[in-house]
Amino acid sequence: MSARDVSRGFFKVEDVLRAANGRWEHVLAAFEVRTELLRPKHGPCPGCGGNDRFRFDDKNGEGTFICSQGGAGVLSGNGLQLLQHCTGWDFKRAVEELGRYLLRDEDRVVWGGSALGAVSRESLPREELPPEPKAPDATIPKYDEEKLKEYTKSLPALTREDLKKVSPVKVEKAVPGDFFEVLYAHGERQLVFTNFYSQGDFLYQCGAGSCRLSQDRGVKAVVSPLPTTGRNGVWFLCNPVNGKWEKNPGRVFFKGPPKGCEGPAERLEEPPEWKRRNWRNVTSYRYAVLESDSAPEHLWLKALVKLPLPIVAIYSSGGKSLHALVRVDAGDKLTWDRVVCGRNDKSRERTASIMSLVCPLGADPAALSAVRLTRMPFCMREGVTTKTGYQRYDQPRLQELIYLNPVALDKPPEWRSLESRHGGGRR
Ligand SMILES: [Zn+2]
Repeated sequence: MSARDVSRGFFKVEDVLRAANGRWEHVLAAFEVRTELLRPKHGPCPGCGGNDRFRFDDKNGEGTFICSQGGAGVLSGNGLQLLQHCTGWDFKRAVEELGRYLLRDEDRVVWGGSALGAVSRESLPREELPPEPKAPDATIPKYDEEKLKEYTKSLPALTREDLKKVSPVKVEKAVPGDFFEVLYAHGERQLVFTNFYSQGDFLYQCGAGSCRLSQDRGVKAVVSPLPTTGRNGVWFLCNPVNGKWEKNPGRVFFKGPPKGCEGPAERLEEPPEWKRRNWRNVTSYRYAVLESDSAPEHLWLKALVKLPLPIVAIYSSGGKSLHALVRVDAGDKLTWDRVVCGRNDKSRERTASIMSLVCPLGADPAALSAVRLTRMPFCMREGVTTKTGYQRYDQPRLQELIYLNPVALDKPPEWRSLESRHGGGRR
């Protein structure tokens, strides 16, 4: 199942089972299960073969079966489990496939949507549950438009054009690599995304150039210019990374027997995962991203101008939102978390931080992550994905760089030399 499907929600297992009830033979045939073996007497198993290990009794039309797996343990269940036995799919995949076959896309449940209350989470085995939607953290200060108005009332009205005029570096024509060369040190690497859910599609190294990355470990990167357009736009990870695959350690844990039962605890393993966009990949905790979906732009612009933070760049999403890159210069993740989110690792309370300053003014707390993806200036965005699907814009929209202040860095502004190096135009 692709990441896009997850973002579209999922089918409820009870909906799938209801739709398949009484017609499992037909349904299983659609998945190339050998339905001539689905008989109410002992015979070969459509999942694991043999001669007489399997019986399909289809109780109440639920597709029930029993398979002794040739003595490897008795397996029984309903049609869903039979499909899993025949295809090797896990529960999630099997429900997704059945849902696509039996239901309509509108039958999907989307987290946060109104159908949320209707999901019977109890009906799903625990380990198969989709992740819990994160409970809003009560310690995160809430957006308050009155506060934002009060904070910005001393400033005159501002537009994007005004901000462009006061930008220390004028940035009409450039390419994504120029942006990196100005904001990151020689040799540092930036991860670039055309698919928001990937592990990184391109890598840029300052002073060296860029390559296209494979999503498979062990497949070599290919020298390639950075992308200048994307279906939903182009993003970069706000902090420099090593560009390598890093293994999350995974987890071993023990689960006791169910209540009222005796027996030894079961040893369970969560396998390690390979990632390229995890905090383990970050080589310098330098930046944080401020973005707002809640604050009206005319007020948000003023807030960005007034905030006592070293903002090095402001750029648009190609849509309604404006992102700002703030210099944090934390030496490590713990320091970054403390400075940006005010996380006190000892008391677990939230202390004064960038978050306590900017969130009441409309900054999105979810964007305050050291591995946040943010919009890549100078790239085009071709459309937008909403709950109802993908909509292509009439014209691709520029993810426009509006303000650039490399003077907030210790680096001299090199923009002009870069512009001439790249011929000053879009590649
Ligand atoms: Zn079997």
